[in-house]
Amino acid sequence: MKRRIFKITAIAFIFISVVGLNGCDENNNIVLFSIQNDIDLGKQVSEEIAADPTTYPVMDKSTNAEAYAYLEAVKNAILNSGSVAYKDQFVWQLHIIKDDETLNAFATPGGYIYVYTGLIKYLDNVDDLAGVMGHELAHADLRHTSRNLQKSYGVSFLLSLLIGENSGELTQIAGQLAGNAAGLAFSRDYEKEADAQSVVYLAKTDYACNGAAGFFQKLTDDGHTNDNLPFLSTHPTEASRITDINAKATEEGCDTALSGNNTAGMTYADFKALL
Ligand code: ZN
Repeated sequence: MKRRIFKITAIAFIFISVVGLNGCDENNNIVLFSIQNDIDLGKQVSEEIAADPTTYPVMDKSTNAEAYAYLEAVKNAILNSGSVAYKDQFVWQLHIIKDDETLNAFATPGGYIYVYTGLIKYLDNVDDLAGVMGHELAHADLRHTSRNLQKSYGVSFLLSLLIGENSGELTQIAGQLAGNAAGLAFSRDYEKEADAQSVVYLAKTDYACNGAAGFFQKLTDDGHTNDNLPFLSTHPTEASRITDINAKATEEGCDTALSGNNTAGMTYADFKALL
């Protein structure tokens, strides 16, 4: 019994020293995972993805420099919005996956972002792409995976990671995440949070701040359902999501006019032609 009390006291002490007395991260969420844990985990997941080109045929950066420059320009506009909490801490590394059949994009902890050519080619303008990218950046920046892990593994497990008792476990978690990265499911609350945050990011760019709604609107107009699209099965869509994004744009008072499609000296059609 005494031992147990000692253990609880020790955990409480570590908890306070790790998260500080206010207990919150940059976004005011209690996340026991350190920023370095996010970065380490993301790096390991990205290495697992790189080692599996059959599942994840990532396009080479040196031979596709122009296409990457375009996407980098969209990413940099979002990062320079002044609203990305971990702009300087996370890696924010882009990868294009050559798969024209898949309408998807995903992000790992620490800011490794993956965008499928199927999604890029499906969209008609850079504003919608910026909306989706803002949504994915938000999942990393709001630390949704870490917050999920905290929920599923529990506080004491994560504390044992922090004090170094379970060093092999992080590698194991990374393996599981990589195996399922493209299909990683977030709760409806996290999806809504990422949608809203995408509006906040885009509000400070030249892109239409409700770009994410443009993507969902196109899917709805085309009659796509959750069943046949990975992005939708992991990102549940409904009319209310479009409404919520547009309501957030009204609340922010931001510009919803299309930007005119010129990014990195290219039109969106030029960019698509490179893929
Ligand atoms: Zn999402």
